[in-house]
Amino acid sequence: MNLSTNDLRHVIEADKAHVWHHLFQHKALETVDPRVIIEGKGIRVWDATGAEMIDAVSGGVWTVNVGYGRESIANAVRDQLIKMNYFAGAAGSIPGALFAEKLISKMPGQSRVYYSNSGSEANEKVFKMVRQISARHYGGKKNKILFRERDYHGTTIGVLAACGQPERAAMYGPFPGGFVQVPHCLEYRKQWDVENYGERAADAIEEVILREGPETIGLLCLEPITAGGGVITPPEGYWARVQEICRKYDILLHIDEVVCGLGRTGTWFGYQNYGIEPDFVTMAKGVASGYAAISCTTTTERVFEMFKDDAADPMSHFRDISTFGGCTSGPAAALENMRIIEDENLLENTLAMGERLMGNLLALQEKHAVIGDVRGKGLFQGAELVTDRKTKEPVAEKLCQQVVAEASKRGVIIGVTNRSLPGFNNTLCLSPALIATADDIDQITHAIDGALTAVFG
Ligand code: PMP
Repeated sequence: MNLSTNDLRHVIEADKAHVWHHLFQHKALETVDPRVIIEGKGIRVWDATGAEMIDAVSGGVWTVNVGYGRESIANAVRDQLIKMNYFAGAAGSIPGALFAEKLISKMPGQSRVYYSNSGSEANEKVFKMVRQISARHYGGKKNKILFRERDYHGTTIGVLAACGQPERAAMYGPFPGGFVQVPHCLEYRKQWDVENYGERAADAIEEVILREGPETIGLLCLEPITAGGGVITPPEGYWARVQEICRKYDILLHIDEVVCGLGRTGTWFGYQNYGIEPDFVTMAKGVASGYAAISCTTTTERVFEMFKDDAADPMSHFRDISTFGGCTSGPAAALENMRIIEDENLLENTLAMGERLMGNLLALQEKHAVIGDVRGKGLFQGAELVTDRKTKEPVAEKLCQQVVAEASKRGVIIGVTNRSLPGFNNTLCLSPALIATADDIDQITHAIDGALTAVFG
């Protein structure tokens, strides 16, 4: 849609007057216009002022994995919508079946796909499945859900009960019971002075299990690499020990791949970097790269079998429905999204460009004392900003916002995680589309270099 200057002004005024933006303090709009993005192509977007920018955060929150302007996805969705747009409940669909088959072919050990429409909902499905397993197979006892400090699993009250970022949950309680936090595993913010940090951090989970009573715990829910909580890559040895602990105490393991899923770290799923065999996997953002709203909860056949029971018993099947889980636009877009990732070798590109990004960020760390730590995998990386490398005091959130603004002035959109209350964070986030070229990566880090110099000298 090509809009005239007047029409664009109208759009901006309408936005200013009526849209309530996410994660945004609207007081700011008393003096400036909101950013309205009107077009995207590849890794670049254009806003209403005509400014062209490299989007180094794939739509703000790690979503548009295959980049903007993909006509083949639009066509797949269009064709499917005209043929059959929607049917809810027990009925299947052509793209629903074919996408499930394709997805599971990349996930050895997983066998079933349950559709819904957001990451929060996909996670909540797991919590409900676990509660039902507890009710039907463990006399209601094994119902507690463990989650980790700094992890995030979504926005509804149910999943906020499993939120390890106090700044996101603080004002929205009371929450449902039966959720218990385990410590984070970020080695840069050491909690234990030991050699094998990964194993020690995993042992901290076991301590919580023993404190609570293993017979009361049904699920351990973890991000493979913590995203919004500060791009936290797990230390060596962590995951093997976590898996061992889950098996030892008959606790189901749920990996939240809402961010890492569909190629972000250079493998189809983040957990596949660590040899984990999860019981549940959830995914959303990259599943259809934002071309349709779709999320998936996958499980093993063993879990699925627990819901197959006497057909005459009305309480035996999973008593859940997601209305928009019946939209065929989601799996149609997702199927084409996967084809693109395969045919364009985007996993390989992600690994190669991820290495380049990491190299560039480490070079920036040499130059800018404010970068305390650089971490991540593939095209999912972060640089934590500190006022002093010894004390590791996080830089003020306001300064982080200035870095983001300065990068934007230099034509690159980057992200930053919020400061935790209390604690650490303030990590610049980078997650460009998986199609990024070496030149794109260099432009991104060049802009960050300039932004850091502008803010910190
Ligand atoms: N899990 C993780 C790891 C996330 O980062 C997010 C969203 N940022 C969610 C779940 C929730 O997804 P949604 O916003 O689609 O509900």
